[in-house]
Amino acid sequence: MKRRMMALFLTTAMIASMCACGSKDDEKKVYKVATDTTFAPFEFENDEGDMVGIDLDLLKAIAEDQGFEYELEYVGFSAAVTALEAGEVDAVIAGMSITDERKEKYDFSDPYFDSGIGMGVLAGSDIKSYEDLKGKQVAAKIGAEGCAFAESIADKYGFKVVQFEDSATMFQDVLAGTSAAVFDDYPVLGYEINRGIGLSMPLPMERGSSYGIATLKDENPELVKMLNKGLANVKESGKYDEIINTYISK
Ligand code: GLN
Repeated sequence: MKRRMMALFLTTAMIASMCACGSKDDEKKVYKVATDTTFAPFEFENDEGDMVGIDLDLLKAIAEDQGFEYELEYVGFSAAVTALEAGEVDAVIAGMSITDERKEKYDFSDPYFDSGIGMGVLAGSDIKSYEDLKGKQVAAKIGAEGCAFAESIADKYGFKVVQFEDSATMFQDVLAGTSAAVFDDYPVLGYEINRGIGLSMPLPMERGSSYGIATLKDENPELVKMLNKGLANVKESGKYDEIINTYISK
């Protein structure tokens, strides 16, 4: 019995030492964080071809404050959520709404931005209400809160929802006249409209959930703690407002 335990101990020690030289245990953990591709002003490619946005600046500020390292993966919203569920990434920061349904699967950071849903139409279009969508096609993003909202009223108003991977493609579809409207997050539509993309929002904002950074439920409590502490500090220091003001003018 004793000998067997000794052998087990030795094997364990050997494995432990093998791991130590193979994977460099002393190296710092680098968290993998997935995000969307075109979701301005939260993440998007600027005119210089660099990925910028509120989410990216905020995560950077939080990580600096808390002293953790991370690397970003720009994969798109539904792909980011899929990667999180597959355990391929530690977190998602992608203007992701904290919904009750999602809270069952993910641990979110504290909310960092209040949002809602908007309906975007071609500027000058005669679509002014949901009734005007009768018999038409509307665009929405796979897995997004805007898509769930569009689907929740589609039967009532008699329109069809077509799903897209990213916001830029949805906006193009409306600009091209294929979709009569797009349902997406209000601040994202607002940003594009201010930029002069040629869309407008004829209706007030529909209620939506605030954004949070998602981790897989119970998988990363230490990361959630750092995110919340960092977020609080970044808000306290004024850095949060500075980031928001960089992208959204009042
Ligand atoms: N806020 C929306 C959601 O979480 C959309 C996020 C996104 O498209 N990046 O469903």
